[in-house]
Amino acid sequence: MSRTIAFIGLGHMGAPMAANLVKNGHRVRAYDLVAAALDHAVETGAERAGSAPDAVADAEVVITMLPAGTHVLGLYEETLPAARPGTLFIDCSTIDVLDARTAHERAVAAGMRTLDAPVSGGVVGAEAGTLTFMAGGGAEEFAEARPLLEVMGRKAVHCGGAGAGQAAKICNNMILGISMIAVSEAFVLGESLGLSHQALYDVASTASGQCWALSVNCPVPGPVPASPANRDYRPGFAASLMAKDLGLAASAAHAAGVHTELGLRAAELYTEYAQHAGSAEDFSGIVRTIRDRSGGQA
Ligand code: NAD
Repeated sequence: MSRTIAFIGLGHMGAPMAANLVKNGHRVRAYDLVAAALDHAVETGAERAGSAPDAVADAEVVITMLPAGTHVLGLYEETLPAARPGTLFIDCSTIDVLDARTAHERAVAAGMRTLDAPVSGGVVGAEAGTLTFMAGGGAEEFAEARPLLEVMGRKAVHCGGAGAGQAAKICNNMILGISMIAVSEAFVLGESLGLSHQALYDVASTASGQCWALSVNCPVPGPVPASPANRDYRPGFAASLMAKDLGLAASAAHAAGVHTELGLRAAELYTEYAQHAGSAEDFSGIVRTIRDRSGGQA
């Protein structure tokens, strides 16, 4: 069934996601503050909206893909009065769990239906339509959103009520951030002990050290040819986004009174890395920071 969808936020992720909706026969009313981003969306078949309220005015579904919670809350304030009652608002941005819950509350108070549905899979997944969505909200809203999520992605998981999608996203990325540091420290220690990268990989990838950070996104070049380490750490998943997600995890842990010692330390390390050498690198490049601090050579 073809739907009329307002798509707001046409950056690295939003642009290919909107293009996939167009390709699948949906009418997409696009809006972005940046003219070049909007022009690009129009070139890929979306309709140009003159403003965010204009985009949502006759939409059945509103999808947002924005940088942070402050943008989402601001956008909701601007657009909720312009939307038809009952419009389904799906926020795919990665934002703070508390902001996501506030966005749900405000939308529901304005007579709308909502879902938080952040993604995993990066720009490559957005282009290929292979993202994983983790959704928070009502079962009916999820059922209605599912056919659209499955156009933009390969998998959609309903994680629970409002904010549960954001919770799943930051918990998963906290595992990922910490495990990449663990794998990187092991390789740097192995180097200093005279162990080749391949030997450590061959053992750990089939032993209890096995994890995604090792066997898919291996932080040293060689053992996994497709990993970013083989192309000078071009992302991939940018270190700045990992730092952002670990910051969200730290803020959620603080609000919940949960002591996430390694999560907090990982947030500090990625923030430092992203502010310096790693601003445009894949997060696995953190191995170089660990090596530099140890005074070692690859
Ligand atoms: P981006 O900065 O490339 O795109 C964001 C877009 O939103 C920009 O084009 C900006 O102009 C637009 N925008 C901001 N405020 C707006 C407003 N009020 N009205 C209209 N447009 C507005 O960011 P991105 O990489 O596409 O990421 C988007 C979200 O997806 C972020 O929350 C990010 O954490 C998350 N995410 C990104 C990746 C990735 O690999 N890039 C992976 C997973 C999740």
